[in-house]
Amino acid sequence: MGGVIMANITIDKSCCKGCDICYAVCPKKIFVRSKNRNHYGTNMPDITNPETCIYCGMCERMCPDGAIDVQKEESSENED
Ligand code: SF4
Ligand code: SF4
Repeated sequence: MGGVIMANITIDKSCCKGCDICYAVCPKKIFVRSKNRNHYGTNMPDITNPETCIYCGMCERMCPDGAIDVQKEESSENED
């Protein structure tokens, strides 16, 4: 008990082409433009506030390159 559920959201840099779709579809605005460029030379998304993710799956479904993976993770607050 007492574990915190938090989304572990990852973006595969080798797949993402910086198309911006994830910025538009996430209802929680978790994806924001970063200065990091991928090998296509376009800007990768950064992930902000993953604790606000509602697991709607829109980002995974809508990313044309299948670059996004969202996993529910429970972390214990009483680890020490
Ligand atoms: S939708 Fe997919 S390919 Fe497009 S910017 Fe987001 S992670 Fe990258
Ligand atoms: S699952 Fe939904 S809320 Fe979570 S990051 Fe993806 S689009 Fe945003």
